[in-house]
Amino acid sequence: MSMQQPTGSVLTHLECSKTGETYDADSLQNLSRAGAPLLARYDLARLSLSPADVAAAGEPNLWRYRALLPVRDAAYIHCLGEGWTPLLPAERLRETLGMRHLYVKDESVNPTASFKARGMAVAVARADELGAREFAVGTAGNAGSALAAYTAAAGLVAHVAMPTDTPRAIIAECQALGADLALVEGLITDANAHVQKGVRESGWFDMATLREPYRIEGKKTMGYELFEQFDGALPDVIVYPTGGGTGLIGMWKAFDEMEQMGWIGSERPRMVSVQAAGCAPIVRAFENGETHAEPWQDAATMASGLRVPRAIGDFLILDALRASKGTAIAVTEEAMHAAWGEMASQTGLMVAPEGAATLAALHDLLSQGLVDRDDRVVLFNTGSGLKYLEAWFGAPGEGGPR
Ligand SMILES: *Cc1c(COP(=O)(O)O)cnc(C)c1O
Repeated sequence: MSMQQPTGSVLTHLECSKTGETYDADSLQNLSRAGAPLLARYDLARLSLSPADVAAAGEPNLWRYRALLPVRDAAYIHCLGEGWTPLLPAERLRETLGMRHLYVKDESVNPTASFKARGMAVAVARADELGAREFAVGTAGNAGSALAAYTAAAGLVAHVAMPTDTPRAIIAECQALGADLALVEGLITDANAHVQKGVRESGWFDMATLREPYRIEGKKTMGYELFEQFDGALPDVIVYPTGGGTGLIGMWKAFDEMEQMGWIGSERPRMVSVQAAGCAPIVRAFENGETHAEPWQDAATMASGLRVPRAIGDFLILDALRASKGTAIAVTEEAMHAAWGEMASQTGLMVAPEGAATLAALHDLLSQGLVDRDDRVVLFNTGSGLKYLEAWFGAPGEGGPR
């Protein structure tokens, strides 16, 4: 083994998101005894880290925040260029919408062309450091290719299960990256069930959304990046396409950490969850004033990242939406497809349908007066549209192939 290369991580322990019970952060962990996600906690009082320090180190990827991430020995980091994605002023879209401060955070430039790379980069490195060798994930698609990429880079094993109708580009990507790939009839929930036998009997480490503590840590870096990219401030509104909700929960956690470090006060952006009308458990629960979301029956949408009928972090998503005075909004397939072409042709970004969903939602938010034309608004484009050719060519309605 090479010499230790300390990252300066101030990780202290894990905490159950339901009960507050603490857990050891230096052994492999999945859910808490209460069956809830575990959240990483840091000694932020001990850390004297300013935004200027982060900027001065200048690392052009999410490891610029390594002191605030769980990996202790940098030898376990196999960076493929994840994070530090551009925040783009969407100038032509602004004009069309009569807005002054609209931006797109373009996550499609991440490794494996989606923001799943952020979570997997951190979680694979940390689990490798703690001794995991074989990893498993049931996924709607992009989490599988991200896991496959980071295990490939580290020389580890990925067992990936995903629905048979996952976009073919993602299937090809997983195969090429060397994952042990199973195609399963059904949805992400069925894919998750499929890998459980290996998790139980062969000791594969379960990397499913929020079932281990560190994908959320990778995703929280989006919140830190927004703060840096807005020159030490946060936007007014974040519009986020929500499946399992890791990114939303992660950014919300980042804002709390930033407040504890004195980077910000108690101000927060309004968080908006966007889901597809064909799978909108969070929107339904938000509208009904519920703290948990009932599973969605017969989930269907071309935005495969949003085809998540049941989210284990539902209560955390709903908490963040309400605490931020945000909202949740569902968009139809037709609106999503129309917004796909609109967003691409007015920004120059071949966005994923999940990213297009945020523009479809913005139209509704503006017409309902929930977002002001002067607000500083960030749309998250979470992946590349080049992975979704079947959806583009096969889509319903007038937004179809041209
Ligand atoms: C996974 C995924 C989402 C949903 O992200 P969560 O953080 O799980 O809510 C959105 N868009 C794309 C492209 C995805 O792959």
